[in-house]
Amino acid sequence: MAIDTVTERAESAAESFEVINPADGSAIAKVPLDGPAEVAANVARVRANQPAWEELGVKGRAQWMYKLRDWILDHQDEIADTMQLETGKVRGEAAGEAVYLTDLINFYGKKGGRYIRDERVPAHSPLMKAKKLRVQYRPYPVVGVISPWNYPLLLSMGDAIPALIAGCAVVIKPSEVTPIGLGEVIEAWKSEIGAPDVFDVVNGMGETGSALVDEVDFVQFTGSDRTAKKVLARAAETLTPVSAELGGKDPMIVLKSANVERAANAATWGAFSNVGQVCISVERLYVEEPVYDEFVERFTEEVKKLNLGMDGREHGKDIGSMTFPPQMQVVEDHVEDARRNGATIVTGGERIERDGDWYPPTILTDVDHSMKIMRDETFGPVVGIMKVRDADEAVRLANDTRFGLAGSVFGSKREAEAVARRLEVGTANVNDVLVGFLASDVPMGGWKDSGIGFRHGEYGIKKFVRPESIVSSRFITKREPLYFPYTQKRREQLRKLTDFFNARDWRRRRGRGRARR
Ligand code: NAD
Repeated sequence: MAIDTVTERAESAAESFEVINPADGSAIAKVPLDGPAEVAANVARVRANQPAWEELGVKGRAQWMYKLRDWILDHQDEIADTMQLETGKVRGEAAGEAVYLTDLINFYGKKGGRYIRDERVPAHSPLMKAKKLRVQYRPYPVVGVISPWNYPLLLSMGDAIPALIAGCAVVIKPSEVTPIGLGEVIEAWKSEIGAPDVFDVVNGMGETGSALVDEVDFVQFTGSDRTAKKVLARAAETLTPVSAELGGKDPMIVLKSANVERAANAATWGAFSNVGQVCISVERLYVEEPVYDEFVERFTEEVKKLNLGMDGREHGKDIGSMTFPPQMQVVEDHVEDARRNGATIVTGGERIERDGDWYPPTILTDVDHSMKIMRDETFGPVVGIMKVRDADEAVRLANDTRFGLAGSVFGSKREAEAVARRLEVGTANVNDVLVGFLASDVPMGGWKDSGIGFRHGEYGIKKFVRPESIVSSRFITKREPLYFPYTQKRREQLRKLTDFFNARDWRRRRGRGRARR
């Protein structure tokens, strides 16, 4: 939806809200606010269209998704422009959303059908051999996606894509902080691509999200664990299943066998890309004693080279503005708490005084787990580094958290992988950071307070379908042995069959093991 069109609609809507450019604090647009009645009407409309969408089959649905892929490819610049406007991202980050989404459409377009096709299952019990067992997977009719502000398209469309390929209709409630870019894509789906009316958006704050939870058959939530608890409580009222992708406090371990230069470069990207506003950002670093000084020096050097500011289509900056003003307060609070308790600020540590919300990449040392900076999710450009004696201490500290989203380990291939296997996380990167998210083939999700459920790979589409087991009788006889009447003779026969088939030793198979009173 073009920005002036959406603002025009907002002027005539009963209620609306403003969207701000966080890089300079200016107003971008007004967006109409959808209340419970609008949400219900929207869901009812796509629900009515869903059976025909399901009827198309995976291949038919994938054809529409490929048209969406092509539209995204043809509009990468415009998409990135809007992303920059509503999030304050630098171009390099804003341009990444199209890369991920188009790859994901290709992935589920090709593999989705395989993951959810009918299965023939051989019966395990000899007593069930007379039955033909099959499972078919049917979509939840309407999936509601509730998404955050840090990657407005990637974290909303990214779940909508497998849900649509699975045959669901989808309604997204994007973050009220960043609704414009998604509105433009949905508008293109409807008018430019002319695709079936099974994909829509509703706009507003938490109440709009709650209303969506009330109306849909499955909720895909991405956001904070605080909000997830409200969503789960609300969904419990209608027994609606929820998959939740939540926050993290991701550790990175640098072993003494690591290539320290690579580790320092990776930490710089892992901690500060998208200004640290990534659920899988490196937020804690544990470095083995023998390489600690070298690592801190190289890492600091790299971080000081980062270029802060707003670019445009020409690329050239590394660190943009923060997206959500209240997140700045969390960052300042964590840094202040660490400073008060004895941390050393190696670089950064003070907000930058200019229009908008700007905070420099910040490295803290002399930190420990009593400080918020090593315990709570910061979701900003700050990282704390601790020196550790050995890999065991690193693993113990890395796992000493209520979160469990992702982590990374740098070291010799064998040692680093062995350490990675001990992390209590959904994804462990070995000699790399963040990239687990781009491997759409494998599940991505959180352990502990970092989530319930997974996206990507088979999990990422199977959660949107329900198995229906089809149990067919091979022989049409008048009566089955299990039917009425229950007679002594038949009971005896069944007992003999149970002994014969279920016992795993010959004495019991011959009925010799029964207890006698
Ligand atoms: P948030 O929890 O404040 O909001 C997320 C969404 O929930 C927004 O659209 C919001 O409007 C909506 N919402 C708020 N109250 C609601 C309610 N009562 N019912 C229904 N919906 C409601 O999160 P945020 O600040 O937008 O995003 C930051 C958080 O998201 C961080 O914790 C971050 O780690 C997490 N995150 C997780 C992942 C992941 O994949 N695991 C990815 C990105 C962000």
